[in-house]
Amino acid sequence: MAVQKILQYPHPILKRRADTVRNIDDRIHRIIRNLLDTLAASPGVAIAAPQLGEPQRIIVCDVSGKTKDKHHGRVILINPEIRSREGWKIFREGCLSVPDYTGNVGRAQRVRVEGLDPEGTEVHLAAEGFEALALQHELDHLDGLLFLDRISSLSTDLFRRKKY
Ligand SMILES: [Zn+2]
Repeated sequence: MAVQKILQYPHPILKRRADTVRNIDDRIHRIIRNLLDTLAASPGVAIAAPQLGEPQRIIVCDVSGKTKDKHHGRVILINPEIRSREGWKIFREGCLSVPDYTGNVGRAQRVRVEGLDPEGTEVHLAAEGFEALALQHELDHLDGLLFLDRISSLSTDLFRRKKY
């Protein structure tokens, strides 16, 4: 059990491209456990390894309980890639690394994502709605992008949060 500190904007690790995982070894499994523990103790639905200071391409996501949209429960993905996008919608988004703000961000409504699970098995996921949004947000973290980078106008699309 290791709930860790979540790095906050503008920490430089949040701005760099995370490294591809070459070997799913004990270190990677430890990062995954820390991601799961930290997410469970947070108000968020998903988290990416760079947010814990680990610049590795790993995300975990679990939107069950936060949406009526279809979803896959707990998703753990190593080296995830988006293979296709469909639709477009503006969503109001938040981020555990930007706790004081939310923002209006345009995202695909449906995505197909591929990656590896913690055992190294290939995973193909067709996600939609809130889960699709969460996955796109987390994959952005692996490329050093925050939702702030996708806001068209800081004056009309960024909102101060009263409380998480
Ligand atoms: Zn985030």
